[in-house]
Amino acid sequence: MDIGKQAFGQAPDGTPVALYTLTNANGLVAQISNYGGIVVSLTAPDRDGKFEDVVLGFDNVDGYVNHNLYFGAIVGRYANRIAAGRFTLDGVEYKLAQNDGDNHLHGGIRGFDKVVWEAEAVEGNDGVGLALTYLSADGEEAYPGNLSVKVVYTLTNDDALRIEYLATTDQATIVNLTNHSYFKLDGARSESILAHEVMINADRFTPIDETLIPTGELRSVKGTPMDFTQSTAIGDWIDQDDEQLRLGNGYDHNWVLNHGGGTLALAARVYEPVTGRAMEVHTTEPGMQFYTGSFLDGSATGKEGRVYNRRHALCLEAQHFPDSPNQPHFPSPILRPGETYRQTTVYSFSAQ
Ligand code: BGC
Repeated sequence: MDIGKQAFGQAPDGTPVALYTLTNANGLVAQISNYGGIVVSLTAPDRDGKFEDVVLGFDNVDGYVNHNLYFGAIVGRYANRIAAGRFTLDGVEYKLAQNDGDNHLHGGIRGFDKVVWEAEAVEGNDGVGLALTYLSADGEEAYPGNLSVKVVYTLTNDDALRIEYLATTDQATIVNLTNHSYFKLDGARSESILAHEVMINADRFTPIDETLIPTGELRSVKGTPMDFTQSTAIGDWIDQDDEQLRLGNGYDHNWVLNHGGGTLALAARVYEPVTGRAMEVHTTEPGMQFYTGSFLDGSATGKEGRVYNRRHALCLEAQHFPDSPNQPHFPSPILRPGETYRQTTVYSFSAQ
């Protein structure tokens, strides 16, 4: 077990940022930057024990500064979309940046993915970790309250990347934090994730309108291409003539996890048949965005000169449901003074 530190470039304001290299007892490596709390690389063994990097990313901080793809980043204050960038809390209307058409997306213009976090190495009893802290000032990106955020990444000795989030506030606010890693379990071997097999532990999803905002319905997945209750190759149904797939340009929806959130439970499993790599996602969150990289368009060249085209990778973002501040029947994203926001998500790796 080991943690190393190297320079990773500068944030736009000149602040130097670092890349931390976490190595667990079995040789898995996670590289994480304090710029955006970004997971830059993450290796996992295939069924022959060969390690490969299973996440998309850039070679240095400039790639992350210059693109809004959220590769590997901590997303906040509010991950996902808020309709028309507006919400009302305790009778006060807040107007957020409309950075996705009319909607607010992933915390705004300069969300948590684009700020520099304080970093500290931590040695847990089950692995090696990095604690990141950030104080988001009252009014930052027009959100109310000083929000104090802590995110602890631990690369555990049972081959998991555990992410624990904590936040407190001095005024009522909304919080929805996630990690936005783009996974590709066969590393650089293929051009798309269509052969990856996915299981999502959810009988319902939140259908969307043409701007990707939930309609408010919690719809059964039964008999639709959204049914991942049994492990299914992504390519099997993604091109079906289906209204929701058309609206999402593929899969770009929130699934309503069966456990309802609050306790750490299995949310999803991904299996890549060529390498035998498997990933399980456990989370305390009530929802999960399954996004198949529809907006990757080849304009981003990532690590080792690789061009990332449509459907090159997949995201499984543990979260509260999109637009929850405007949908009172969704689990509440409101955080008040004296309360502590907590979420834990664990991505575990194995090979079969
Ligand atoms: C959203 C996509 C969006 C992407 C940005 C995902 O969480 O669901 O619609 O394009 O983030 O990288």
